[in-house]
Amino acid sequence: MSQAVTSLPPLSRIGILGGGQLGRMLALAAAELGLDCVVYEPEADCPAGRVATRCITAPWDDQASLAAFAQAVDVITFEFENVPAASLTFLASCKPIRPGLASLTQTQDRLVEKTFIQSLGLATAPFAACDSLADLEAAAAQIGLPAILKTRTLGYDGKGQIRLRAADHLAQAWQDLGGQSAILEGFIDFDREVSVILARAHTGQIAAFDVPENVHKAGILHTSTVPARISADLAAKAVAQASSIADALDHIGVLAVEFFVVGADQLIVNEIAPRVHNSGHWTQDGCAADQFQQHIRAIAGWPLASPRRHTNQIIMTNLIGSDIEAWQGLSAEPDTYVHLYGKRQSREGRKMGHVNRLKP
Ligand code: AMP
Repeated sequence: MSQAVTSLPPLSRIGILGGGQLGRMLALAAAELGLDCVVYEPEADCPAGRVATRCITAPWDDQASLAAFAQAVDVITFEFENVPAASLTFLASCKPIRPGLASLTQTQDRLVEKTFIQSLGLATAPFAACDSLADLEAAAAQIGLPAILKTRTLGYDGKGQIRLRAADHLAQAWQDLGGQSAILEGFIDFDREVSVILARAHTGQIAAFDVPENVHKAGILHTSTVPARISADLAAKAVAQASSIADALDHIGVLAVEFFVVGADQLIVNEIAPRVHNSGHWTQDGCAADQFQQHIRAIAGWPLASPRRHTNQIIMTNLIGSDIEAWQGLSAEPDTYVHLYGKRQSREGRKMGHVNRLKP
């Protein structure tokens, strides 16, 4: 069912929950369309706050600040999907949140997410819930090893994950994870990883970008290359599966679905991100309207732009930690476009920027 939305005119105000690089690039895209942004972020001096009209620095559970934020905006969106449920419920009672809460509640918890994906008839890795060491032992016997133990909530960029090989001690892994609720996931011996980045409007219209192929290093995205080395049929199948997820959530905005590809034609859904996604950053230099503009268009009730790619091949490479030190050389490379997030401190594993290399 599509939701009733009227187009927000220029000078309307978009509220963004979360002030990281995704919020920064969303705020820049909104500014291009003549819209103002208010960012809400607990940490001071955040990347998005420095390019937004206004930034509210307050904890997620500060009701007075949340109320002031809601008061200051026309629509609320998020770049960070782990905003506490109570804060979201409160905000939703003040102003429209797009995407809606279903997109968050079905994807914040890996157990709920995988169960939801299977309910749509889509494949996932085998999984089992683990709330105790006894559960983990039973799950390992059922699923087999190697496998990956993942916390149910708050994991990202490979954090909150432990790979288990046959000889590993389950008790040690359970202790290392701190006894948090988790799932054990069977290890998929995939041939490649791909993702679908799509935008869905309130009318139900969907515009999907071309499918990139993603390479991770130590659980963190390293490169995304379009086009992925998969058949047109498989790419269409991936888009159809991601679209069925977006429809089931009645999602408004950009949504990303990560897949494992096994052989020439098998797709396994790994993860859903109900937001703009790192594997869609290539669109900034590969499409006339990138994923950030599509998201702002969708949540503001504007028509979606064409997702057509205008360059033969694009390789997006993340700049992680000290990689940022190479910015000067990278900025001199031909057909290479540098995007930096304005973070003052670089740390190991921290995303500092990315480069898009075009092969016209
Ligand atoms: P995630 O945070 O769950 O997306 O995991 C990060 C990365 O770890 C994935 O993109 C894969 O490269 C790898 N990974 C996660 N789960 C599995 C799995 N079940 N089998 C094989 N590789 C995995």
